[in-house]
Amino acid sequence: MKAGAVTPGQKDSARLVQMDVPSPGQGELLVRMLEVGIDGTDMEINRGQYGESPAGHDFLVLGHEALGEIENPGTNKFSKGELVVPLVRRPDGCINCRSGQSDMCIEGNYRECGIRGAHGFLREYLAEEPQFLVRVPRELGRLAVLTEPMSIATKGIDQAIEFHRRSANLIEVALVLGAGPLGLLATAFLCLQGFSTYTLDIVPRSSLKAQLVEAIGATYLHGRDSPVPQLPEQCGNLDLILEATGNSTVAFQAMSALGINGVLCLMGVSTGEKPLEICADCLNMEMVLGNKMVFGTVSSNRGHFERAVQLLGEIEQKWPGWLARLITRRLALGNFEGALHPAPDSIKTVIEMS
Ligand code: BGC
Ligand code: ZN
Repeated sequence: MKAGAVTPGQKDSARLVQMDVPSPGQGELLVRMLEVGIDGTDMEINRGQYGESPAGHDFLVLGHEALGEIENPGTNKFSKGELVVPLVRRPDGCINCRSGQSDMCIEGNYRECGIRGAHGFLREYLAEEPQFLVRVPRELGRLAVLTEPMSIATKGIDQAIEFHRRSANLIEVALVLGAGPLGLLATAFLCLQGFSTYTLDIVPRSSLKAQLVEAIGATYLHGRDSPVPQLPEQCGNLDLILEATGNSTVAFQAMSALGINGVLCLMGVSTGEKPLEICADCLNMEMVLGNKMVFGTVSSNRGHFERAVQLLGEIEQKWPGWLARLITRRLALGNFEGALHPAPDSIKTVIEMS
């Protein structure tokens, strides 16, 4: 079978490789991959800045956002043709991993399929244990390829909402920084909650990203007209902010912009070494006197995937066709390298496996 792979650490090494169709071991199922989404992490790996091959291999199969179909359930309680989404992390033996929270791994010896130490899903077939597969209802169909990014947004937002409950004032205003796939999925989740939602990016107001923000009742802010430090004047007390640009300067600006009792969730990974001069006293004082809270979040576990499946269903029901508009590019597996460079106006690229 064919697979899309890279040599970690080597720039622009993406290529097709041939592999044997895996034969399922005891308790495993055979999954035929249908679609694989590409994100910033895949691009980073192809730039040689991130990623690690599985032990004993000199290449890494990419792909961690996937949708597949059961080809052979073996002895498991799945039926042929059922849709499934695979989890990304594979646990180590730490206390959190053992309790189903490998996203909160404390020892750091977890593996991530398509990213770190385990092959990903950009291949025609996958043999997998049922504990790493999440069922998807037929009605959701191919939109379920968005489950993994939705699970990342879900984990961050659910935790932020939970943290905000330490005070009696309700969340009224939410801000999302960045209108990429993660920012847009987060925007939809926040709109579903009924919060007055603002989403900021630096793309023109006429762009698809801005249109998608406005199509679900959120307000699009252009970073040039509405710099982050000025947002409190424009939006009011920012109760909840989600940082999804991965720009560390923006992350620090967001800390200052955060409202009284506000919660800031950092979701964007910054791989550079950019220094920043800040007024440490001012920021510290604002955080303390405003009861502000900042936290980071990475990865997601089965609970978040299951909740993501449910939320995608709710979004599709409330705004039919909106999720499909996020998928702006579809490429065949043979052309997957084309997905690893950012394309202007593209939001999510999906590789069609069959
Ligand atoms: C993936 C996460 C992963 C993170 C860091 C993200 O792109 O969605 O599952 O934990 O990268 O490797
Ligand atoms: Zn662990």
